[in-house]
Amino acid sequence: MPRLSGRGGMADASSTTTVPCGGTGRVRTAYRCRAYPTPEQAVMLSRTFGCVRVVWNRTLAARHARWHAERRSTSYAETDRALTEMKKQPDLAFLGEVSSVPLQQTLRHQHTAMTAFFQKRALLTYKTHRDGRTLAMVDRWYPSSKTCSACGHLLAMLPLGTRHWACPGCGTRHDRDVNAAQNIAVAAGLVETQNACGADVRHEGQPSVRSAVNQEPQPARVGIPRL
Ligand SMILES: [Zn+2]
Repeated sequence: MPRLSGRGGMADASSTTTVPCGGTGRVRTAYRCRAYPTPEQAVMLSRTFGCVRVVWNRTLAARHARWHAERRSTSYAETDRALTEMKKQPDLAFLGEVSSVPLQQTLRHQHTAMTAFFQKRALLTYKTHRDGRTLAMVDRWYPSSKTCSACGHLLAMLPLGTRHWACPGCGTRHDRDVNAAQNIAVAAGLVETQNACGADVRHEGQPSVRSAVNQEPQPARVGIPRL
């Protein structure tokens, strides 16, 4: 494996793989690179990664705050201006001490990720509407599987492999996915639930914010039929 740089610096070498692609005469080439930074460069890289995390987290928090307050998404240009303002804040002045290129890349990557998320959500909304269903979204941390849809009892844990369980609070036996779907439907305001006495129950800790699809990849999380 050749080393292309002899100065102990950033861009030392790697391997090259050439794979013939059957019959077409074309080849596919892959490069694998590894950096060997000096101690000074390692410190600068570490600081840069730290700054990238700060910019990512602050920008994401600002996006969420704007969405919840104004129901308005944030453009890339707005995040870029916000980054300029961040650098002027005394407690964030260190952001100006690293290259601005990775920080702006961070903004671009986040904007791309958010755009993909909203496009996906728009597609889901269209498909569920077309099929006569309703797209229900709840906070990603909402414990839809671990909460009894009959009495609201919250289990401390529910292993992923457990498909059926009995509620220690009220004794109801649950199918994991059906129970989760019922909880999501209630949380999303699609239906009211009732306890064993017939009175309306709103589960304690029910999410008021519907910001993301539920964390578990269960088919019931979208396209819940109107009950
Ligand atoms: Zn229960």
